[in-house]
Amino acid sequence: MQLYNTLSAREREKLIEEAGKDRLTISFYKYAHIGNPQILRNHLFINWHEMDVLGRIYVAYEGVNAQLSVPADNFSAFKEHLDSISFLENVRLNIAVEQDNKSFLKLKVKIRGKIVADGLSDDTFDVTNKGVHVGAEKFNELIEDPDTVLVDMRNHYESEIGHFKNAVTPDVDTFRDSLDIIENDLKEHKEDKKLVMYCTGGIRCEKASAYYKHKGFKNVFQLEGGIIEYTRQVKAQNLENKFLGKNFVFDHRRSERISEDVISNCHQCGKPCDTHVNCANEACHLLFIQCEECAKAMNECCSLECKEVHALPYEEQKRLRKGKHASNKIFKKGRSEVLKYKR
Ligand SMILES: [Zn+2]
Ligand SMILES: [Zn+2]
Repeated sequence: MQLYNTLSAREREKLIEEAGKDRLTISFYKYAHIGNPQILRNHLFINWHEMDVLGRIYVAYEGVNAQLSVPADNFSAFKEHLDSISFLENVRLNIAVEQDNKSFLKLKVKIRGKIVADGLSDDTFDVTNKGVHVGAEKFNELIEDPDTVLVDMRNHYESEIGHFKNAVTPDVDTFRDSLDIIENDLKEHKEDKKLVMYCTGGIRCEKASAYYKHKGFKNVFQLEGGIIEYTRQVKAQNLENKFLGKNFVFDHRRSERISEDVISNCHQCGKPCDTHVNCANEACHLLFIQCEECAKAMNECCSLECKEVHALPYEEQKRLRKGKHASNKIFKKGRSEVLKYKR
């Protein structure tokens, strides 16, 4: 029985192109008590591999978190399979706004300690005791309420290119950091303010809302399905869109445009820009915002140092990297002294 990938990303890309069939980019998560993550992991891999599903899935004792690319033709079979797993029956699926057949090129189902890295210890509170879930219409109402504090639960590089009007966007690198900052800012208002939270797909808020209830907050709300589902509902129900800019996503697309507003700046020249790139120097890979002009002038690098290294023959670059542990900055920090206009 095959339990792991056998094709490379390149080979897979070719197969997708040859098939010429549409694929859907789908995500979902579910907090639940999983008795044996390994058995579930293998069960998902075997079935999804058969349906030609690709993506990145985390399975933990606390639940499942999945980002997937599913052939449109196999969607009903896929849905049927999900519904056959008791705790995933009717789980809400987020379907990406933009079509992209190559959002994922491998099927990776991994066992993790947590389904999202949150730095929290599970036994301190019950993650299933979550806040009130609200849809787009109710959310739009709530965030106009003067007693509401609207908080963006994502990291700095995500909220930088897009967020809701009037949202508090903590300048943090981790989810754990924002929990403390918000709690401290609102400690006088645990009973009178409405704490309304949102994130990309809802998973971080689900845990945060349970955490804040545990900490004594009385009115805790979260945007159901996050920005992804909000955008879908706004379009389907013809509601006012209150999200500005782009939604950062965790596949190679990096973002989805939600409104035409450009709310961030090129980190190198300061002009309005909301395109994230990774520094082309393989030893760097820093995630930052770069306009087309700067990309050209800097040869897609974050600094003159990186530009110099990047211009060397490949073998020479490899020799330089040897023995040095490449710091993976891709989705980690996105901060660097070399970026003049990083806020
Ligand atoms: Zn620029
Ligand atoms: Zn660099």
